Amino acid sequence: MKDYSAIIDKRVLELPKVDLHRHLEGSIRLETMVEVVREASLPLPEDIESLRRLVQVVDGDPKEPALFLSKFTNIRLFFHSPEIIQRITVEAVEDAARDQVRYLELRFTPAALAQSGVFDMEDVTRWVIDAAAEAASAHGIEVGLIVSVNRHESLEIAEEAARIAVDHIHNGIVGLDLAGDEVEFPAQPFQSILASAKQAGLGLTIHAGEWTGAENVRHAILELGADRIGHGIRILDDPQVVSLARARGIPFEVSIDSNYLTGGIPSLSAHPLPQMIQAGLQTVLTTDDPSIFGTTLSLEYQHAVDHLGLSLESLKGFVLTAVQAAFLDPLRISQLESEFVSLLWRS
Ligand SMILES: [Zn+2]
Repeated sequence: MKDYSAIIDKRVLELPKVDLHRHLEGSIRLETMVEVVREASLPLPEDIESLRRLVQVVDGDPKEPALFLSKFTNIRLFFHSPEIIQRITVEAVEDAARDQVRYLELRFTPAALAQSGVFDMEDVTRWVIDAAAEAASAHGIEVGLIVSVNRHESLEIAEEAARIAVDHIHNGIVGLDLAGDEVEFPAQPFQSILASAKQAGLGLTIHAGEWTGAENVRHAILELGADRIGHGIRILDDPQVVSLARARGIPFEVSIDSNYLTGGIPSLSAHPLPQMIQAGLQTVLTTDDPSIFGTTLSLEYQHAVDHLGLSLESLKGFVLTAVQAAFLDPLRISQLESEFVSLLWRS
């Protein structure tokens, strides 16, 4: 995790936070990657700056979804052993805790960690569950895990990953996520898989309206039963979809750097978060892929202040909305709400 303390307000750094949208595969420390390249003799450069270009979005990269998604092809090479998978999980939780995240929903893609068949998706899921639980208790942070499936991968993979998620519903898994290439691959084929997982009690979050229009957000809410939307920034293209999401109180997991660096918006200051808030939508700030985008949750909060004109006080609202939108049972949400209210307004 980069040290941004010089450019982030101390009050933002110290704010107790919640992150509901963070991918494990996008959270690996660059220094850890260098060590793994050396130790496992991976076919990747050992030099940190050469490696950075292959696994992070860097200056000069075209800001487009395909280039961003291509970084994951290299990242998949790192999941070389159970120890490495457990190490990156522990470090991802530790980095969140250091950024004052008190409740984290960390999502992981079993098919990515299994390196398309080298490991069993069931086994990698257990490794992540065990490592996350260990790190959570070591760092005083609560962690819920979300299983992520890609719409550009097969239905068979999604079906198996969803089954594994349901099997571990009382063992750390709280939700299911549909991610991946929204431009080329429709979500509709995944409908019955998502419906069964939701029926079994998992929360459902769907990446939609990130790179394509509001229609995907409408579809995610009405046809797929999304409890939350990943990004959804293109919703403003259609006032009817805005009304729908507002009426249902659907939370939007917003990531400013991610949207800028993958080409969803032309600049940080062009992010539509203020308009989404103005339209009465529920919004929370999240990191998405902190390592790939070189960000932290504190930095995302600081962007909202510096580039979008939001007040420091309004940041507390994102934290509370995130608590209310967590994939936890209502009793635990109300306990967390009380804890966060006293932490946020203690002075
Ligand atoms: Zn995401």
